[in-house]
Parts: sequence; structure tokens; C-alpha cells
Amino acid sequence: GKIVIAIDGYSGCGKSSTAKAVAKDLGFTYIDSGAMYRAATLHFLNNFLSPSNPHEVEKALNSMEISFQINPDTQKQETYLNGLNVEDEIRTMRVSERVSEVATIKEIRKELVAQQQRLGRKKGVVMDGRDIGSVVFPQAELKIFMTADLETRAYRRQQELLEKGEMIDLEEIKTNLAERDRVDSSRSESPLAKMPDAVEIDTSNLTFTEQVAQIVALAKE
Ligand code: C5P
Repeated sequence: GKIVIAIDGYSGCGKSSTAKAVAKDLGFTYIDSGAMYRAATLHFLNNFLSPSNPHEVEKALNSMEISFQINPDTQKQETYLNGLNVEDEIRTMRVSERVSEVATIKEIRKELVAQQQRLGRKKGVVMDGRDIGSVVFPQAELKIFMTADLETRAYRRQQELLEKGEMIDLEEIKTNLAERDRVDSSRSESPLAKMPDAVEIDTSNLTFTEQVAQIVALAKE
């Protein structure tokens, strides 16, 4: 059977929720690499640190500790920054608007990739992000590249934010997703790109159940 499943792709394709469900189905550990870049971004914002100032980047790296913990009530994995639960805060637009900028920083990526590789030393792992199949686990047994048209992604993300009580204009979400895709795909450090050995899944016309089932089936091949 497969050991590491790498799920990469554009923003808002449903990578996280899909990866989570695939991991649950297979009894694997799920790791949300994007949550780590989001937590790092929150750390920059909270401490008024500038991602373009190398000295402040170093300061950020020396003062942030990111971890995951399982909530005993919901059994859901939650993101912690310096001991505080930041799971909800890292999903807000305030963080989404700055995360791709922070994710371009070489030193930040180096640190988070190392942590992701340590977290990935488990028997079965599903990890989602932008560079999982290319940098974090280039040897992954199964690589998925998820896509969906921008309209569909923006609508789905709007519904997710609404469920959390954040009401955002569809155009604003579209702009944010498109801008993150642009920055993520054009940065010099591990840009987002489909790996030649990745299986592309366009989820525009798939239900959630269908996209999970497709990946689970590939994992069992
Ligand atoms: O996956 P999610 O949308 O939460 O990721 C937020 C941002 O973090 C991405 O837009 C990207 O800038 C960055 N990221 C990354 N590499 C990863 C995961 C996320 O650069 N492996």
C-alpha cells in the first residue's frame, strides 16, 4: 500500500478537506502544511514584523513555535502558535491576504519544510500544500494535483467563511485566490507547479464524496 500521499494545487480547491477525509478513510495521519504558513503569517502580523526585513524574519523564526494538537472533544486537529490555539484566526481574510508573501521567504520555507518532514515520519501520511510532491516529499508514492475553476473555488470558500461567521464579498475572495495562485506559482523558491508524476484532478464538477473516493481508489492501486 501507499505510505505518503502528497496533495498540491491551487488555493481553495478543497485540498485540506479532501486530504483530511482521505486520511480518515485510510487510517493515515493528515498534515495541513498551509496551516503552518498561515500561523507563521499570523506571527508576523501580531508582532508587526516585516517579511521583507531579513533581521525581522530571523526574529520571527526565533520566536515562533507552531504545532498541531487534537481537540479531545471534536477529535479535530487544531493549529497552535506559541501555545495558543489559532485554528480559527489563521483562516481569516486578514491572514489569507498576507500568507503568500510570507511563504516566499526562503528561510521560513526551510524551517517549515524541515518540520513537515519530521511530522511526516509516520507510517501513513496525507499532506496538502503547494510543494509537497516537489520539495517536502518528492518520493511520495502518490501525488495529486488538484484544480478547479476560479468561480467554483471562490463560491466554496465564501460558504466556508460564512459558516465561520465571516461575510466576504465574492469578488474579494476571487481576487485573493487568484493573487495567491499568482504569487505561489511565480516565486523563485519552490513555486507551485504540477509535478510530471502527479495525477491531476479537476474538482469543478465533482462532489466532495467523489473527489475523496477518486484519491482513495488511487491510493489502493
Ligand atoms: O493551503 P492554504 O491555502 O491554507 O495555504 C495558504 C498559503 O500558504 C498558500 O497560498 C501559499 O502561499 C502557502 N503555502 C505554501 N506551501 C505550502 C502550503 C501553503 O507556500 N506547502
